[in-house]
This record gives sequence, structure tokens and C-alpha cells, in this order.
Amino acid sequence: MGRFRFSALKVKQEIPIPARTGVGFRLARGEYVQVVDPEGQQCGDLFAYNAEDVTEHLSAEHTRVFVDRLFPLEGQSFVTNLRRPILMLEQDHSPGIHDMLFAACDPPRYAQYGVREWHPNCAENLRTAMKALGHEVCHVPQPVNLFMQVAVLPDGRVDFRPPATSPGDWVLLKAFIDCLVVISACPQQWNPAANYRPSDLLARILIAG
Ligand SMILES: [Zn+2]
Repeated sequence: MGRFRFSALKVKQEIPIPARTGVGFRLARGEYVQVVDPEGQQCGDLFAYNAEDVTEHLSAEHTRVFVDRLFPLEGQSFVTNLRRPILMLEQDHSPGIHDMLFAACDPPRYAQYGVREWHPNCAENLRTAMKALGHEVCHVPQPVNLFMQVAVLPDGRVDFRPPATSPGDWVLLKAFIDCLVVISACPQQWNPAANYRPSDLLARILIAG
């Protein structure tokens, strides 16, 4: 985006996201969140809700219709289940490979991998983070799987590959409305979502200087 200058933004808050955990925070209209992959090859499941009415949330399926793509490009927006913009992908300082097709990992997913004991997962990370923000979440929306690489092949198959990110890659999202954002550093260690080695993510809330 021609007129946008990242250097003009100031850090309001830095929020570590330790490996396998999730965080939730309020992002005011006009504020930005920068999601950083410090070590590279770590997928982050991102969810966003209207802060005033959490029945309205970022919707992957409505977003795909809105942008006529599997994932927005820089300058394009994610929309809600009411088809209005909630976050814009302002800048993508990564290879630009993300996913909006695969569901969040959850207890049954790990059970299918043969894991018998409790395993951290993005669905529970979402519920825990939203509870801390005062909301009980039953339904887990399709996440925005930042940095996750799912190749769609011409014959209709999908090929799950490790993230293409290098250490320090990031994306920058801008809020159209006051929203509640949850980001989970995906704990998945049994498939390529985090290249079999879950690591930390970092969120920075940025404001125009
Ligand atoms: Zn996950």
C-alpha cells in the first residue's frame, strides 16, 4: 500500500505468546496487531470477534467470497459472518503463504494421532483466552492459520507442508472495528503445521504515531 509507512507506527503493547499457548486482547478500531514468527516455521491460529457482540466474528468462508481468493492479499480485508470488514491484511512481511481451510486443532484431532493424555490445542486456547476476556465460546470458528502452508493441488487434493517462514517474519493487521483478537501458537507436533517443533509467537499492538 503506497501511502502506508510501517515506520510511522508506535508500539503500544508487546504480548508474548509462548509455544503451545494462546493469548487474547482487545484491539481498538484503527489499531494494528503485528504477529511475529520469531524462530520461523510456526503457525498461528488467529480469531477475531466484534468486541460489542461476540456473535459476530471473523469468518473464513465469508472472507473467501469477499476477496475471491483462498486468502486475502495485502490491502484486502477479512470480513465477519455479517460480511463486513473486521481486519485488514495491511502488510505481509513473510512469504505470503497462509491457510484458511484447516480447522483448529482440538482434543479429537490429537486422539486421532494416538495421543492418549491431554494435549494443548488451539480450540481450548481460544476458549481459555476468550473466557479471560469475559466470554464463553462454544463454537470454534475456522481460524486464520497464519504462516500455515496447505497447498491446493489441481486434482483437488491438499498437501500439508511446513511453514515457509524465516525467523522474524511477520504480518500486520489493522482493525476496522473494536475487536477481541485471540492468537494461538499452534501446539501441533504431529504434522507439518509447526514443522514438528512448536515454538513461540509474538504479538505487538501498534498505533499510528
Ligand atoms: Zn493448533
